Amino acid sequence: MPLTLHPPVVDPPVITEALRQIEAEGLWEEVNGRCTGVIRRAPLSPALARIVRLVTWSENRRIALGWFRNVTIILWLTMPFDYIVAPRALPAIVLGHGLLTTIAYLLARRAWQEIGHERWQGLTACLFTAIVMLAAVVTGSQLGGQDFERLMNIAFFGLAVGLVLLPLSLRWTAWTAVVLNAAFLASQYLNPAVTTASGLLYTLYFGFLSMAMLYTRMHMIRRQVRATLSRLSETRYRHMLVQAYDRLRWMATTDSLTGLRNRPAMSDAFTRLVREMPADAPLSVAMIDIDDFKRLNDSLGHAAGDQALQAMGTLLQDLAVAHGAICGRIGGEEFLVLLPGTAQAAARERITTLMQALAARAIPNPGSRIATHVTLSAGIVSTSEAGGHGLETLMRAADQALYAAKRAGRNRIMSADLPPFAIMV
Ligand code: GH3
Ligand code: MG
Ligand code: MG
Repeated sequence: MPLTLHPPVVDPPVITEALRQIEAEGLWEEVNGRCTGVIRRAPLSPALARIVRLVTWSENRRIALGWFRNVTIILWLTMPFDYIVAPRALPAIVLGHGLLTTIAYLLARRAWQEIGHERWQGLTACLFTAIVMLAAVVTGSQLGGQDFERLMNIAFFGLAVGLVLLPLSLRWTAWTAVVLNAAFLASQYLNPAVTTASGLLYTLYFGFLSMAMLYTRMHMIRRQVRATLSRLSETRYRHMLVQAYDRLRWMATTDSLTGLRNRPAMSDAFTRLVREMPADAPLSVAMIDIDDFKRLNDSLGHAAGDQALQAMGTLLQDLAVAHGAICGRIGGEEFLVLLPGTAQAAARERITTLMQALAARAIPNPGSRIATHVTLSAGIVSTSEAGGHGLETLMRAADQALYAAKRAGRNRIMSADLPPFAIMV
């Protein structure tokens, strides 16, 4: 069964970039340590923190912008209701919930346009919180008494949710919480209906509530970091697996000396070819064998023999590129060439050109009985019924022609006729 790993899933560019940076900065040890729990408490190294921020940025940005937008829209929508409750407060409502909130929203939106603006993101979150609380104070003070207090509670509640949701660092979340609580404390002081003692007490409650929010935020940050690192680590292992699979497949199908297909890969290529070729298209099969190769090894050594094989590999690869031939090394100094869409005469031409190219390279073979350089002999068969005959039959016939070429003196091409093709009914 084919491995479903291949072709690999295409990673988003940000993941690819993060993997590259982790590799370049040698951070895999830290990533693995955190994924496996070996490193638990220590803060992220600045380099890794930057990479995590990069990966989570697009999600965090969407959350932040959504939060600011939604709170602003809600404040706009509450303006008519505030007006119904306190018509006198209209200028304060329009100024606070309308104008100032919108300005704070636009500033926050600007700060979240780019990843590098972390300080601005934190500052605008504080500013937004301050302005919404201020709007509540201004409107509330017009309403007075219980309504003032209620409005402040609602504002506090809404913005406290932001402490958890807004994807700020813990430091900036803490600053936002300070602003929120300070504004609440101020409102308690400004509301004549609230006594100092109860104002302080309620601020204390809300202070604890804010700390609980901060604690939650801390865990959300940690979880996001963990999830991001796990994802990066898993992606890395998937890549390694795909590479290993590719390497294994390469090893199983390729002759390492020449880079040509090996024998099993040639069988597969033939099967694919027959399936894809038009039914009556011609196909030529050439078996090629280097002449007196043993004598080359004996006279110049095995390494020189290997070099000659590599040269043959290069020439056959050229043939593949130029004419769509499918070439493989199927034995020591034996090669198989499939020439799709090529009839007998054209196949002869191709192999003749190959012989000429080999001669032009003038690879010495002092032991050769035919020439001073490396030569080859070839046997060719051609058919327009490749699928019916099958590769084994075609190779056997081509091999007989090759044998005839050897007997006739080597360094030549011989063709063979195929045995009659019997159709089984
Ligand atoms: P002929 O012209 O009849 O083909 O003679 P030959 O010497 O080429 O054929 P033979 O089959 O007698 O010898 C083939 C030699 O190829 C024997 C073996 O040592 C050598 N050979 C096989 N594989 C390799 C290889 O990977 N590298 C090298 N250098 N030699 C190899
Ligand atoms: Mg030989
Ligand atoms: Mg041989």
